[in-house]
Amino acid sequence: MLSTMALANPVELLDRGTRVIAVANQKGGVGKTTTTINLGAAMAEHGKKVLIVDLDPQANATSGLGVSRELPESVYQVLFDEVSAAEVILPVAVTNLDLLPSHPDLAGAEIELVPEFSREHRLARALSPIVGAYDLILVDCPPALGLLTINALVFARELLVPIQCEYYALEGLGQLAGNVDLVRSNLNPELAISRIVLVMFDGRTKLSEQVAGEVRAHFGDRVCNQVIPRSVRLSEAPSYGQPITLFDPTSRGAVAYRELAKEVLA
Ligand code: ATP
Ligand code: MG
Repeated sequence: MLSTMALANPVELLDRGTRVIAVANQKGGVGKTTTTINLGAAMAEHGKKVLIVDLDPQANATSGLGVSRELPESVYQVLFDEVSAAEVILPVAVTNLDLLPSHPDLAGAEIELVPEFSREHRLARALSPIVGAYDLILVDCPPALGLLTINALVFARELLVPIQCEYYALEGLGQLAGNVDLVRSNLNPELAISRIVLVMFDGRTKLSEQVAGEVRAHFGDRVCNQVIPRSVRLSEAPSYGQPITLFDPTSRGAVAYRELAKEVLA
């Protein structure tokens, strides 16, 4: 639960200028959740107050942070105004890091939201009372461009797109960019910054270098300098319910996400 102290003076807290970042890419398994968890944890380690919103029915960010995917109250009830965000948010094992957990039932929301009033703004509205309590909010999106992802893009001011250093890495990016343009012109003009992170980079393969080169040639300075290496430790950490910064603090993955956090915070 959010401490009452954190909510004591919402006006003052709102002045802190919370950054809301959606982590999205409709391609599955490209490192969205891994990036959300570990970037969030690294930012918290840098002293920022961070909230991770798990907006994916797979609830991988929830379990990856050591929280049950079967809690009776989750972001699902928050989206439908059945409970306030402050009642559902909970702290995790990392100091300064909170989680708004997900639940498999959220899968139904893609359809249940369709007839709802202001269906694209549900997340932004539901979270507005608690936004000011955080320096950063990261939203882990599902691998789809449906209403859940649109809700994240309407809530966010920034978009972070992980790109896997593999074949077909750029597939679907045109569609994502099209959706971002639509959201910006119709729903959220404040969605200003888009950034790309190269993940699962394997320095031993020519392919990784090639993909990284292509992405940089195409997207220029929107691509973060720091790349995230392919690392077994990064893939093992979620099954222990820990971000890499706790699970193996000196590993290459932990160092890379800390550097990425510095770059995104700069
Ligand atoms: P989905 O679209 O299903 O939500 P996702 O985009 O969130 O997937 P992840 O779950 O973060 O992707 O990663 C997919 C798989 O790749 C996971 O098994 C994860 O542990 C692994 N993985 C992610 N990043 C790395 C990495 N840098 N090195 C090695 N394995 C990684
Ligand atoms: Mg995921």
